[in-house]
Amino acid sequence: MKAKITTAANIPAATRRAVYRRDGYRCALCDDVRGLQIHHAMPRSVGGSDDEMNLVTLCWRCHAEAHGTFLPERHRAPRTPEELAELRRSLKEAYAQNIVEYLADLYAEEGVIWCPF
Ligand SMILES: [Zn+2]
Ligand SMILES: [Zn+2]
Repeated sequence: MKAKITTAANIPAATRRAVYRRDGYRCALCDDVRGLQIHHAMPRSVGGSDDEMNLVTLCWRCHAEAHGTFLPERHRAPRTPEELAELRRSLKEAYAQNIVEYLADLYAEEGVIWCPF
């Protein structure tokens, strides 16, 4: 069977609004209020759902950094393709970790065990 491909664009408007509201209409990582987007904490490719618990509000910049497609200025520009690949990989890992911590803390405050599946 062919896997159904869905992206953040397929998330129902009501779910998006609920996630933005939960996160206080700010980026979960840098508190920016501009250019907000919805990101999957656990990518759909590894079983992450479209449930509110698996979604987080990020600004466009943090979102691109979380996907390793945008390199923050604080990093030295990579000089080789290997350096670039390594920087992207470590960025993705660091952002994923920060997002998981943010969500787990958020739900822990409500006495809920965070489960993104
Ligand atoms: Zn941000
Ligand atoms: Zn994303």
